[in-house]
Amino acid sequence: YATSAPLLSRVQKLCQEFECTNDDVRRCANEFVHELELGLHGRTASVCQIPTYVTQVATGREKVFIILKGIALGLDLGGTNLRVCSVELKGDSTFRVLQSQVPVPRDVMVSKTSKGLFGFISQRIGLFLEHHQLSLNVTDMDPSHPYFALGFSFSFPAYQAGINSGILLRWTKGYDIPEVVNQDVCMLLQSEIDLLKLPVKVTAIVNDALGTIMSRAYTLPLTHTRPTIGAIFGTGTNGVYLQNLSGIAKPMDGMVDQSTGTMFMSTEWGSFDNKLSVLPVTRFDIELDVHSVNPGDQIFEKRTSGMFLGELLRLVILELYSDEHLRLFRERCQSAPDPDPSVSLWHRWSVDASILSTAEADDSDTLETLRSKISSTFRIASEIISAEDALAVKLLANAIGRRGARLAGTAVGSVIVQSGILSQYSIQSNATSGARSLVDVAIDGSVAEHYPGFENYIRDALRAIPQIGDEIEPHISIGQAKDGSSVGAAIVVLVAAHQGT
Ligand code: ADP
Repeated sequence: YATSAPLLSRVQKLCQEFECTNDDVRRCANEFVHELELGLHGRTASVCQIPTYVTQVATGREKVFIILKGIALGLDLGGTNLRVCSVELKGDSTFRVLQSQVPVPRDVMVSKTSKGLFGFISQRIGLFLEHHQLSLNVTDMDPSHPYFALGFSFSFPAYQAGINSGILLRWTKGYDIPEVVNQDVCMLLQSEIDLLKLPVKVTAIVNDALGTIMSRAYTLPLTHTRPTIGAIFGTGTNGVYLQNLSGIAKPMDGMVDQSTGTMFMSTEWGSFDNKLSVLPVTRFDIELDVHSVNPGDQIFEKRTSGMFLGELLRLVILELYSDEHLRLFRERCQSAPDPDPSVSLWHRWSVDASILSTAEADDSDTLETLRSKISSTFRIASEIISAEDALAVKLLANAIGRRGARLAGTAVGSVIVQSGILSQYSIQSNATSGARSLVDVAIDGSVAEHYPGFENYIRDALRAIPQIGDEIEPHISIGQAKDGSSVGAAIVVLVAAHQGT
């Protein structure tokens, strides 16, 4: 693409502001590992490292034997959707899933009372059971387990005092229901389920990153390295990894099964860098933060997750548009249109991150697909979007997306370093282990799934981390786990039942 025009030279300068160099990756990874360690000691850290009380990964051999009708339920409350599913594990790495999904209405996310949210969720569970004719009559019930066990994938920072207890620390991802903060979300959900008289017991609370690990673990061939790290890049972001119990120096309130010597820790890395300013930052990041519902909080999330990447792009494009000389989206107009408040270029938070994926994927000469996406996303008539305008958007989207994905890789790499697994690596043992990878990372979320080249950017960042480098990076396997959080939540119910047995 030719880049001679004033617009494109300005765009190139802006892209440089979003650079995330190998030095940036190294500096951030250093700080990340330090913060992960502080979190294990219970010291003030931007990653608070919450124990999950899940101490082993699924083998793929788990079978439903304690659960009613051979089925466990999974529930995933995400930043965008609510998913309810039932999972029947066959015990041979396969499972049968029924799933339903609805967007979480905005008014539910900011309900005045906890009932607004948990009443909505229990109704959806009731409808799911009814739709799939899973509602029971009394004669169907196994007297020792007259309920469906439900794994609740709840992906907000929650303090766990046991596998089925989660005290909400703070809301993220646009939710804001003050009454729920400091409450046990499992109890709140159970009360609403009981009010509807549903045969369902909230048995485990799981965050989506752990659910992703479990569903990938269940389906991988038995000869494959088990995933011990999980990462989500969807509306929000989080990472979970298997930590040696001996390294956890802070007190834990719940009963810990000691038999494996390990436990999955939820890093809560979305809030990494809340105070430190080690991450690369631009004036657009600052503006985005100031206008968010949680300024100064979830800073890492604001550089890497779907809720924010589209907004960053909107802010940059708005700055370009505001400079009349650059003539962005104005080439074919006689006079520039006045800012129209009904157009979503002026609407905060109106831009979905999917435009970044479209921009990255469209490599055609005319950028026709991207032009039509720009038109629908920013509600700008397609005839005033020139190929040069589209190219400007493509370059900026790439710069923002690439930075996000490289920082995602920095987080994944830091957790790999912290997990201690690299100490098991030696050239010799690797030669004898054949095709098995040293470590397996399960990834889920729409950004990870749809952004082209996301994994390659992650791998670039991994190579830039000195403890990993060119030598170890090829021995890291990374894979997606489709519908990981809801299915994985149901699997955790079963793994938990096996714990200590
Ligand atoms: P949740 O976080 O609710 O589980 P998802 O994993 O689907 O849901 O993530 C939704 C987020 O992903 C939204 O913030 C949206 O902006 C972003 N997103 C949706 N589609 C795409 C896409 N094609 N490319 C990149 N990001 C996307």
